[in-house]
Amino acid sequence: MKNFNFKSVTNTKEATKLATGRATFLAGGMSLIPAIKLRLAAYSDLINIKKIKGLSGIKVSSKSLRIGAITTHAEVAASKEVGKSIPSLAVLAEGIGDPQVRNRGTIGGSIANNDPAADYPSACLALNATIHTNKRKILADKFFKEMFETDLKKGELIEAVEFEVPEKSAYAKFPNPASRYAIVGVYIAKLKKELRVAVTGVESVVFRCKKLEDALSSNFSASAIENVNISSKGFNADIHASAEYRAHMIKVMAKKAVSSC
Ligand SMILES: Cc1cc2nc3c(=O)[nH]c(=O)nc-3n(C[C@H](O)[C@H](O)[C@H](O)COP(=O)(O)OP(=O)(O)OC[C@H]3O[C@@H](n4cnc5c(N)ncnc54)[C@H](O)[C@@H]3O)c2cc1C
Repeated sequence: MKNFNFKSVTNTKEATKLATGRATFLAGGMSLIPAIKLRLAAYSDLINIKKIKGLSGIKVSSKSLRIGAITTHAEVAASKEVGKSIPSLAVLAEGIGDPQVRNRGTIGGSIANNDPAADYPSACLALNATIHTNKRKILADKFFKEMFETDLKKGELIEAVEFEVPEKSAYAKFPNPASRYAIVGVYIAKLKKELRVAVTGVESVVFRCKKLEDALSSNFSASAIENVNISSKGFNADIHASAEYRAHMIKVMAKKAVSSC
């Protein structure tokens, strides 16, 4: 069904009150509208959240970087605050899709959508992010549940994403040449208390790679990755790459990320 009511709201309370039954939030529409057009999803009401002022903007402190949910990928890529505090995040945003997608798509939409090949979920896991909703704070480790599934409840709205500012970090992606979605994306972050490695594009949902975390925690260098054995069991296999190729590319991307840290 392609028929729906379009409602535009200016505050969070109004948005969440309307989000019942078959209604849903609309941010940049870069994933939602194609899904509706392809008849993969149908809704009675689309609630446009892009006019809610409190959901935009970027705030930085010495410990964290907070990005409002409706901040676009282009805004993150161009932000001086992001470039200074977490440059790898600006690089990630600049590598999403094409200019049209970057100018419409939002960080909140990307995270809520939780596409298995999306870039931001890997940043959230590696940078130990906290997802702020209208109801609670959710750690990234608990947020990304399964393919296109998150811990969000019906009508729960992401307000902002707060990333820990790392000592060092880098994101390396082997992109699908058409869409720029990750065939394999590896985000490495050296945080104050721990080292995290997150991988996207490889399984049904983003995950942390414990083997790489252990290897890099004892020796933060590209050579430390050489002897890590990554099994391809359970990895995605499609027309773009086999499971074995993805396993190989995790190490290639991890080395690239470490070298550019
Ligand atoms: C051609 C193309 C190429 C792309 N390439 C890439 C790529 O290389 N890398 C990548 O990561 N992504 C890519 N994308 C996806 C893009 O990043 C989208 O912006 C993103 O997936 C969805 O963001 P949106 O703001 O458009 O959300 P929408 O499409 O408006 O919404 C997506 C879903 O999130 C929900 N939602 C939106 N905002 C909120 C919120 N604040 N709280 C709760 N729920 C919310 C909606 O209800 C909907 O279910 C691509 C998309 C296209 C069309």
